[in-house]
Amino acid sequence: MAYKYDDENIFAKILRGEIPNDTVLENEYALAFRDINPQRPHHVLIIPKGRYVSFDHFAKEAADDQIIGYIQAIGAVCDLLNVSIDNGDGFRMIANSGQHGVQEVPHLHVHILGGSSCGKMIQS
Ligand code: AMP
Repeated sequence: MAYKYDDENIFAKILRGEIPNDTVLENEYALAFRDINPQRPHHVLIIPKGRYVSFDHFAKEAADDQIIGYIQAIGAVCDLLNVSIDNGDGFRMIANSGQHGVQEVPHLHVHILGGSSCGKMIQS
């Protein structure tokens, strides 16, 4: 079954400049901005500029340069936030996907959470 992308999702509107955002970093392939409802002292969302619903969609259908540019943006954001484990205290990266992943916005985004412990991965 083909992935269906909704051009009216809120992150598509952010990419088109229709909704403001608190940008942390931008490159040719990705935009990173602060989550409007932060769950940790650092909470940044990183989205690809292409029309991808989820990480699996992106992994299967994105071009190599899109994948490289997106992953490099994630690394650069970790450096900007000082959460990289080479000189910081680490972070959690989350990519909620689809119904069981409880994804609210259907445009691929990873959450980078840091600045304090994120606790156990999944509460039992
Ligand atoms: P998810 O449940 O993984 O789809 O996460 C969606 C995230 O987008 C949530 O953490 C929201 O707080 C965040 N969010 C929704 N609208 C905006 C917005 N306009 N600017 C920044 N973050 C947003």
